[in-house]
Amino acid sequence: MSENNIKPSDKHVDQDVPVTGNNITTEQASRQPAKKVRRPLLEIRNLVKKYGDVAAVNNVDLTIYEGEIFALLGSSGCGKSTLLRMLAGFEQPTSGSIILDGKDMSVLPPYKRPVNMMFQSYALFPQMTVAQNIAFGLKQDRIYKDGIKKGFFDFGKRLSRDEIEARVDKMLKLVHMEEYRERKPHQLSGGQKQRVALARSLAKQPRLLLLDEPMGALDKKLREQMRLELVNIIESVGVTCVMVTHDQEEAMTMAERIAIMNRGELIQVDEPRKVYENPNCCFAAEFIGSVNMFESRLITSDRNGSVIRSKDLDHDIHLDIDVDLADGMDVTVAIRPEKIYIERSFPVDDKGRKMVNNYTSGIVENIAYMGDISIYYVRIPSGKIVITTLPNADRFNIGLPTWDDQVYLSWDPESCVTLTF
Ligand code: ADP
Ligand code: MG
Repeated sequence: MSENNIKPSDKHVDQDVPVTGNNITTEQASRQPAKKVRRPLLEIRNLVKKYGDVAAVNNVDLTIYEGEIFALLGSSGCGKSTLLRMLAGFEQPTSGSIILDGKDMSVLPPYKRPVNMMFQSYALFPQMTVAQNIAFGLKQDRIYKDGIKKGFFDFGKRLSRDEIEARVDKMLKLVHMEEYRERKPHQLSGGQKQRVALARSLAKQPRLLLLDEPMGALDKKLREQMRLELVNIIESVGVTCVMVTHDQEEAMTMAERIAIMNRGELIQVDEPRKVYENPNCCFAAEFIGSVNMFESRLITSDRNGSVIRSKDLDHDIHLDIDVDLADGMDVTVAIRPEKIYIERSFPVDDKGRKMVNNYTSGIVENIAYMGDISIYYVRIPSGKIVITTLPNADRFNIGLPTWDDQVYLSWDPESCVTLTF
């Protein structure tokens, strides 16, 4: 079984503890900061939510670890909010279970769950001050030890006025809003409203924080600034967090692991780097970043390597690994644009010999200048457009291919990901 190939049966199976992910190579593992082995906090098992005949959430199996920031990523309508609302208790599952700290939460109403949700609209009370908004939940509810009601006779306790005051102060400090405690929501900027909403969500010290499109109401520049600030705040209180977003950059910068969701199902659950470098299917490969896909057929594969033939390429793709699939099988080879070399001269290997595989000729049809990089659209002899990127390291663009240039594209065997569905 090669690293690039994940059996169809691995779908839905969520990967294990971040530290011990199945197929992290030593090289990848060594680049990651050392992480503690974590305890599972939330276990979602065979969770289904149907609206009529349509399954908005379909057979989701997922384990979230204590202290983890986890992102559900998917396009609009794929079921992200429905999944989140079931965790919060606003929606009843059709079947399956939601276990938090070893206890089944599915039967508990929202206010009895040690879970808090921050809505995209923030849902702040307009007539209340910042401090009153943060104190609201603390005044309303009883507070249980560890956030969980333990049995019928556990009545928890109401916080005293002083305790509430102290908790509000602490939250204001946490989100750097001490000076704004007497303001009303309409006197705050978008980013400030978001901080207040976050403070209010964290005031009851939930075990699990749910964020539905947390930056949805902010403009692009502010979204980018708030990402790391939000992560810092969440990490400083150590709360476990499940967030939902349709923005892949947001998911990748904020979360330790992400789940790609499509039509109610989890397609791949992994660290951002692994989802990008080792997508487990064509959907995952195309969903994150851009990618060149070559529809191909596996000619041979054994421990000496694999030969793959694409109708779009004049020369075969040769891999150093055994892809461990049946000869003659249809496969798709995915190559990320930044892993394709583009040059005007005929490509040579590291020993200076002319390459015979893993390359194609082409004509530069278009160049998109993005500032840091340029994206080249190269038409290869089959008519297919291949995308490749070059960093604009040289300010004056000296020596880079330009429009209508005849070029060669080539790639390393390790850059190819072989996909079967
Ligand atoms: P997302 O948050 O990923 O955009 P949602 O979870 O809101 O997606 O919706 C998933 C699917 O379930 C959509 O097709 C949506 O139309 C449907 N859906 C969501 N809520 C309801 C509801 N209350 N009644 C019927 N269908 C719903
Ligand atoms: Mg939604």
